[in-house]
Amino acid sequence: MSDFQKDNVALMCDIGELVGLFDFEAGLDSFLAKAVSTVAWHMRAAVCSIYLYDADTRDLVLRANQGLNPNLVGRLRLKIGEGITGAALQEMRPICEAKATDNPKFKYIPGSREELFVSFLAVPILRKMNPVGVIVVQDPQWNYFTPNDVQALQVIASQLAGVIENAYLLMKMRRTEEAQSASGPAAAGQGFGPGTHCIRGQGASDAMGMGLSTRIGQYLAHAETGLACPLGLTEADFDRALAVTERQLLDLQRRLEDRIHDAASMIFGAHVLMLKDEAFSGEIRAQIRAGKNPWTAILDEVRRYADLFAHSPNPALREKVLDIEDLGHRLLHNLSPQTFANNGPDYSGQIVVAEELLPSDILKLSAERAAGLVLLGGGQHSHVAILAKALQIPLVIASDRRLLDLPEKTLLLLDPKEGQIVIRPGPEAIQTMKDLIRSLADAERLAAEVKPETRTRDGVEIQLHANLNLVTELDVALNMKAKGIGLYRTEFPFIVRNTFPTEEEQYWGYRRVLDRMAGRPVVFRTLDIGGDKALSYFPVDHGSNPFLGLRALRFSLRNPEIFKQQLRALLRAAHGNSQAKIMFPMVASLDEFVAARDLARVCQAELEREGVPSRLPELGVMIELPSATLLAAELAEAADFLSIGSNDLIQYLLAVDRTNDEMAPWFSPHHPAVLRSLKLIVDAATRAGKPVSLCGNVGADPRMLPFLLGIGLRTFSLDPMEIPAVQRRIAQIDIDLARYQMNKMLSFGRIEQVAGFLKSIDAAG
Ligand code: PEP
Ligand code: MG
Repeated sequence: MSDFQKDNVALMCDIGELVGLFDFEAGLDSFLAKAVSTVAWHMRAAVCSIYLYDADTRDLVLRANQGLNPNLVGRLRLKIGEGITGAALQEMRPICEAKATDNPKFKYIPGSREELFVSFLAVPILRKMNPVGVIVVQDPQWNYFTPNDVQALQVIASQLAGVIENAYLLMKMRRTEEAQSASGPAAAGQGFGPGTHCIRGQGASDAMGMGLSTRIGQYLAHAETGLACPLGLTEADFDRALAVTERQLLDLQRRLEDRIHDAASMIFGAHVLMLKDEAFSGEIRAQIRAGKNPWTAILDEVRRYADLFAHSPNPALREKVLDIEDLGHRLLHNLSPQTFANNGPDYSGQIVVAEELLPSDILKLSAERAAGLVLLGGGQHSHVAILAKALQIPLVIASDRRLLDLPEKTLLLLDPKEGQIVIRPGPEAIQTMKDLIRSLADAERLAAEVKPETRTRDGVEIQLHANLNLVTELDVALNMKAKGIGLYRTEFPFIVRNTFPTEEEQYWGYRRVLDRMAGRPVVFRTLDIGGDKALSYFPVDHGSNPFLGLRALRFSLRNPEIFKQQLRALLRAAHGNSQAKIMFPMVASLDEFVAARDLARVCQAELEREGVPSRLPELGVMIELPSATLLAAELAEAADFLSIGSNDLIQYLLAVDRTNDEMAPWFSPHHPAVLRSLKLIVDAATRAGKPVSLCGNVGADPRMLPFLLGIGLRTFSLDPMEIPAVQRRIAQIDIDLARYQMNKMLSFGRIEQVAGFLKSIDAAG
């Protein structure tokens, strides 16, 4: 092989060596400088650059370069999605251009000398789907980089990712150690005095809870724990604790999978991996052999990791702090259960007080049967709150930081309905709570009284379907005799995880829902990411107004690889399941619907070519934007069915933030513009002969039901807990009277007139 040929094998070997010799003292920049020159040499590329992702500013920063203007290093910043480099990170795929300027994303950097280089290859540097940076090579020759080069650079990118991450961790750890030695011990917090205290917060679920308080990771606090280090423990005790811990974790994983099939992936499995990692348990063992008490060896190692993770720039690693703390707690408990008195290794029966929790923590705590949660931040509409509600865990969000200093095992009573936390409740409060819990049991009895059919007073049949966030809610939907799932918000299983579910995992998740619904219709809504629903492991610049940013179908169309994976999983699940349907959220134009439909067809053709059984099911459009309302006729013509998402329709029609409680008075379902829009949509679907349903919360509003029936809606999809009340309300309504009321309501031009009319009906009824 001549000197002038590219030598990717030698390149990989050299980079491997460079990685092995990485010198933390010399620093990351010196390593990156060596890396770019090695890559440029072996690839015979005129330019090589490495950009690193800055998690604070969410920019890509040029950190090392050979071949461009050297003054740009440290100064040139690109947004995610900006230029071909930013696009490679955003789309998480290599981009190889024979002529860079042909790519509409190409961005010329003045003063860079880039005009000299035609060929462009950018490969994202990722660590388990988390952005680390981008490596770029450029050359003056046209069409210079081959598929082989792309592959080689991908291998290099993955090697670089590990080094960069470790370097960050070490630097952060050093900085923290320095900061800690510079500042003295932290001042003690002001706590609550003895006796009963009542704290106001925001309730975020319906269930009530009572239990002893505990703060996650409390045993790690240095002096305050009061947990004496038990003496006389040996390596054999450590081995036993390891084995018991592993068994418990596998057990919990199984329990979680039984309860929450769609989201359970690897939540406790990650703990098992950590437990078995030689760098963790091997290091503890080495310390025990060197003479350390096993208790102290575990505690020291857990603290070291918790510190490392807490100060990592990588959000995915920061999220592991609770994992390592939990694992440490469990290990110590199994090493010496008597040291923990009654406190088991799980949070069973306890109320967890935490500054913040991740969706995956909520799943974990649910599997461990926590009695409730107190969080010091987050909103009622945050997805953590939605999850707690879905899993029926009592949750109150409060801002009083003294709650963090509560002594362990303080009796707490949570009343999320009232948004109250009672510290050390008296006997009366405890009795009231018991009475309330009894009346909640009444609600379950009412569920048993739901009739299989829902009819108006004059006998018109109405279909009541359920909205589903997690598969665990299917039980409630089935209990409430839902006729189907009118809206499965498929983004929730994505949100609660730490990585993207694979096509296979999605396929099995969707199959499970279809199997459980046994022939009843299921409408799978494709991802509605964005707005208040972000993915922690896939950062996207949502701009200053995420609800007007890259949300729902826009997000999916912008990320075709993610979208195709979901569509393929859905098409496979639809095979042999004629009741499966797909619906696209936040469709803003006919063009968007056509683009989504085309991609579904491409997936279908691909699957057929691969010989994978699949079926392209009915495709529906969610009408939740003013633009879609005005195009309802065309959309109804093109799609197989329509579904009205009134939550967003009202938000966007009236410019009222649906997640802001302060704006609640302006969120008016009976606004004349909302009423006319609803009528327009139903008329358009009827004219096109296509089914239309409503899946927003307005379907559960008893005062709005006559209007909705009056305009011709016959199918509603609701929070399953709402089904009994809605069924009872529908049984009181005559369709003729509903039509009369509908016409009357449509004749008004002012909100006040509609409100007055509804009030007069209430008074008469
Ligand atoms: C809606 O917008 O009305 C709807 C049902 O969708 P989501 O609440 O998930 O946005
Ligand atoms: Mg919506």
